[in-house]
Formats: sequence, C-alpha cells, structure tokens
Amino acid sequence: MPFKDFIERLSDVKVQKGDIPVWWVYTVGNGGEIFYKGLKEGKIKGSYCENCESIILPPRIYCEDCFERIEKFVDVEGPFVVLVMTKSYLDLDGNPLDKPQKIALIGVPDAKGGIIHFLDPDTDIDTGDIVVPFFNKNRVGSLKDIKYFTIKK
Ligand SMILES: [Zn+2]
Repeated sequence: MPFKDFIERLSDVKVQKGDIPVWWVYTVGNGGEIFYKGLKEGKIKGSYCENCESIILPPRIYCEDCFERIEKFVDVEGPFVVLVMTKSYLDLDGNPLDKPQKIALIGVPDAKGGIIHFLDPDTDIDTGDIVVPFFNKNRVGSLKDIKYFTIKK
C-alpha cells in the first residue's frame, strides 16, 4: 500500500508511544556458518572452487569468478600475510585508546579474499610479514575467537 501523506516539515512529525513487535534473526549464510564453526574449532576455513581451482577466504558457496556452486571446504593453514595495515587511536565511540590498535587485511598468497583482524599490539609487524592466528582458549564461533594475528615464531 503506497503512502498517501508525506511529511515535509519536522513539525508535522507525530509521536506514537507503544511497542512494535519487531524481531529478526541475522544469519551469516551457509559459507559464514562453515567459517564460524571452523573458528570455534580453532581453524580458518575457506572454500575451494573445483572449477577454477581456487581457494576463497572466507568461504562462499558460490565462486565469485566462475559462478560455480562450491561444495568443498578446506582448512586454510597459511601462510597468512599482512596485505595492508593501519593503526587506530580511537575506540568505536571516538574515545582515545591507551595503546593504538593495529588492524590489518590478512591474505593468503594462493587464496582469494582475506580476513580483516587485529595484529598483536606488542609485536612489531609490518606489511608483507607472515603472521599466524592466535586463538583464544574458550571459543564460541566468533571472529573474536582469534585474539589477533602475530609473527610466526
Ligand atoms: Zn570458480
């Protein structure tokens, strides 16, 4: 049903008190579910397109290059490379941080895509460095299951 009345001035806005029974469930999709379940197991999962023989990170159920359906998922074990990085001096609310957070796009040379994540704040890491994920002991299936990426020792 189309709207018949349009509000053109802020003074015409009316307040209606009450509750609106709205709810939703956000899903991460089939590929995302494989990715997050993998994180819970301490693994980074990717999808493998058998048609163009490429690994895609994070996993997708369709190849973005050849549009083939993907049904094969693999453990991506690296090497993980810092493709680009930056430092954030503010938190999400704009408050100054005690210590800047290093944020990077982590890629794998033989894979398409990548993961945006934090870098170890206490280690000197630069673009092009090989890093490894540092997983938390208690994992729940979240991107935060990886505490950060750090230099491989
Ligand atoms: Zn493909």
